[in-house]
Amino acid sequence: MTKKIIVAIDGYSSCGKSSMARALAKEIDYIYIDTGAMYRGVTLFALRKGFIQDGKIQEDKLREALSEVSLSFHKAHEHATPELYLNGENVEQAIRTMEVAGSVSPIAALGFVREFLTRQQQAFGQGGGVVMDGRDIGTAVFPQAELKIFVTADPKIRAERRLAELRSKGDETSSLEDVLENLSQRDYIDTHREVAPLRQAEDAIVLDNSHLTIAEQDALLRSYFERATQD
Ligand code: C5P
Repeated sequence: MTKKIIVAIDGYSSCGKSSMARALAKEIDYIYIDTGAMYRGVTLFALRKGFIQDGKIQEDKLREALSEVSLSFHKAHEHATPELYLNGENVEQAIRTMEVAGSVSPIAALGFVREFLTRQQQAFGQGGGVVMDGRDIGTAVFPQAELKIFVTADPKIRAERRLAELRSKGDETSSLEDVLENLSQRDYIDTHREVAPLRQAEDAIVLDNSHLTIAEQDALLRSYFERATQD
């Protein structure tokens, strides 16, 4: 039987990492873990608890309350996409709002939050057979991953894709400028934070999907996977 490897997919915000990771995982029958959803889950928790006021995070309160946060992924049926549960509640919709997007990067810059989530992510991927997407998977969570992909795309194209996704979920108010501003801010914080900043691992393959169709991008990723598992 072929060995089940770890596929680490990192890159900037809204460049299609999750879609391609999900599609690959389904095709090769691996577990898919969306680590961004986990950072969003902690952010939703902090917002609901009132730990983020006027953009300022009450770090001590969050640190103390973090042990109350239980995150898990469940599928509605065998072929469904895994959805995030926060303390038993399905929060898949609630974590995708602009409010959460506006606070998630400062939360993800906190060392104790990263430590808390990194440990869980390492446990999820322990036996291999996992496709994990995020910002630090190939550099910090699984530096030994057999296949690392670093995804990029033109910022304007990313914002257009993200806006279309928000519209399809009923957000009629956010503008292209709002989305572009949020993406730029998150990219800046993610690449400049002290703990596990977003950067390309030395042994990662760069995949720029600005001008690729979804089918082309999925096929390319699949070919990288085939190559990695043949070695
Ligand atoms: O992938 P997504 O855009 O949902 O991630 C939301 C945010 O979570 C990112 O902007 C980043 O700040 C943070 N994140 C992170 N490390 C990861 C995954 C996400 O810092 N591995």
